[in-house]
Amino acid sequence: MKIADKNTKAVDLVRAALEKAKEYEDYHAFISMNEAHALERAREIDAKIEKGEEVGRLAGVPFALKDNYLSPEGNTTAAAKMLEDFPAPITATAVKKLEDEGAIMIGRANLDAYAHGGSTENSYFGPTSNAYDKTRVAGGSSGGSAVAVALDIVPFALGSDTGGSIRQPASFNGVYGVKPTYGTVSRYGVVAMASSTDTMGCFAKDAADANLVMSIIAGKDEKDSTTLDDFWTKDLADAKASKKKIGLITDFMGDGVDADVKKTTEDYANKLKKAGYKVEEVSLPILKYALAIYYIVQPAEVASNLSRYDGIRYGHRAKEIHNLGDIYSKTRDEGFMPENKRRILIGNFVLSSGFFDAYYLKAQKARTLLINAYNEAFEKYDALLCPVSPSPAFKIGENTSDPLKMYLEDVMTVPPSMAGLPAISVPAGKNKAGLPIGVQLVGPRKSDQVLLHIAAELEGK
Ligand code: GLN
Repeated sequence: MKIADKNTKAVDLVRAALEKAKEYEDYHAFISMNEAHALERAREIDAKIEKGEEVGRLAGVPFALKDNYLSPEGNTTAAAKMLEDFPAPITATAVKKLEDEGAIMIGRANLDAYAHGGSTENSYFGPTSNAYDKTRVAGGSSGGSAVAVALDIVPFALGSDTGGSIRQPASFNGVYGVKPTYGTVSRYGVVAMASSTDTMGCFAKDAADANLVMSIIAGKDEKDSTTLDDFWTKDLADAKASKKKIGLITDFMGDGVDADVKKTTEDYANKLKKAGYKVEEVSLPILKYALAIYYIVQPAEVASNLSRYDGIRYGHRAKEIHNLGDIYSKTRDEGFMPENKRRILIGNFVLSSGFFDAYYLKAQKARTLLINAYNEAFEKYDALLCPVSPSPAFKIGENTSDPLKMYLEDVMTVPPSMAGLPAISVPAGKNKAGLPIGVQLVGPRKSDQVLLHIAAELEGK
């Protein structure tokens, strides 16, 4: 990516990004723009360069910020009416780290409200269009971030991935998407969805850019006790796979998976073989339960995390209030989208006495079995290969009336999330209609850079 220096002005980089964002306004990748502040920051950076001062590794690089990251400029809406007018009092750690390196946020990217969804159609502000076909979804929930990178408005964008929200839109728009090992990047200052699987990552055009961004935002943060010590330290060239063995997951290559998606995944396996990797077919039967596990654990955590939006502490409050009950119920009825409410209802149901053991506890036990199955596979393989999603981008409106159909879209992305594993989405091809198709590489904990190294080796091949 282009970084400001003596010959390249930060102001020009930012202006070009803002102009492109305007040109592609009808894709609706952004909820709000940060124009005045971004240009002011760019001028400051140019002045520093002029004086020969230190400006950081991402000096003047414009980026898009998923609108669930808190940052004081403008409002942080999480694409929900509940936070439509919410000015964040703090800056998310990941954003602060990028800004310390000179990166400049030009706008806040669209998402499914509270990151609940896989298409960006659940946004209170309306859907984002796919970068390759305006009648199709951007994917989600980080749809705006993916499209902003795919349309070359910005060289990178931040997203969050709880069950696929970086990987699936990356695949639908032909860009890289990195969902790191759980705990790699601080969650401080990001609107919580499901705390035990929320991860912060990025979109970029190639493995080197993704690695650079991740190496900056990764690391221990005293404000998030689940963060790991910084392990994102290698040069990408040195993050080699040690076994040179990849497992192709057969469980996700069966009926119900689009033929072009299967073909693209097989082609990628062949390219791995040509690059010197041994690729073997492997089955992990427990994977068929991962979606069920996710749609119990995740709503349970959602119900708990969203209980703070009570109309009293912050965010929207209903106008027609006659008693305390009204404050809660009317505010939450008006502030949440239907999908948010569905998850709150499911979550409270699986946590309620009488059902807790049958659903929530069972799901947590099954989650442990899933983790064990992965661990066993990684004794043999550096990484597992599978599609990101059963099909390329679907039509806007195609799945909106059937939540279960929408949830089934997540079948391949939720398993690594439930196990806290790193997983990346790599652009791998296009179908006849020109829609991008990505493949997914999943590795053991902290092998994030190895996955990017493998992808980098295959770039352009
Ligand atoms: N599509 C998944 C869901 O709806 C993933 C969302 C996410 O990762 N934030 O839950």
